[in-house]
Amino acid sequence: LFITLEGPEGAGKSTQIELLNSYLTKKGYQVVQTREPGGTTVGDRIREILLDNNLNNLEPKTELLLYCASRAQHILEVIKPALLEGKIVLCDRFSDATLAYQGYGRKIDIELIQQINRLSTAGLKPDLTFILDIDSEEGLHRAKGLDKDGFELGIGDRIENEKLEFHKRVRSGYLDLAKMEDRFEVIDANHSVDDIFKVLVQKLEERLVE
Ligand code: C5P
Repeated sequence: LFITLEGPEGAGKSTQIELLNSYLTKKGYQVVQTREPGGTTVGDRIREILLDNNLNNLEPKTELLLYCASRAQHILEVIKPALLEGKIVLCDRFSDATLAYQGYGRKIDIELIQQINRLSTAGLKPDLTFILDIDSEEGLHRAKGLDKDGFELGIGDRIENEKLEFHKRVRSGYLDLAKMEDRFEVIDANHSVDDIFKVLVQKLEERLVE
């Protein structure tokens, strides 16, 4: 089972994925938790480039290809092997993020991204994708707050560079994507960590019995 978590900045993905990992592990599942970009030696190097503040004038096409390059390696080395061993893979962002950020956000042609996504994923799609949806102002506010308390280096500065309008496009992009395929579950993330997690588990259980 391949589950991805997506959503705009500040929606609380990282917290929810940790909670989900503990929940599923306690239930006896073998879980592999991973994130993009990164997860492999090559991917971690690409991540350094993507999160390097000194390189924050990256051309959107360069950014797109770096995310996709990292993903190709991640699938080969981490995701596919784990799925073949029957494990549950929980991934923090995947190809939908490329559509939302580089497509809707940075306005690269969506069809072109879909083609590059197909190349980098070799057609692998998540079975279930949770989109944690949050109001853009609230999300940015939360993410900046996290930054002061030790949010991962680099990301805070990127947020400063990404204007509210950009985040609004990313958010509406995710909501558009959610309408296109059945694998999406949109969760309202304008709530407390506990309340969001309750809904997430409920949706997951519904899917598991289907
Ligand atoms: O997943 P996480 O919240 O750590 O991602 C942090 C930031 O990485 C996003 O807010 C965005 O600036 C950037 N990102 C991106 N394109 C992607 C994925 C992430 O620009 N495909």
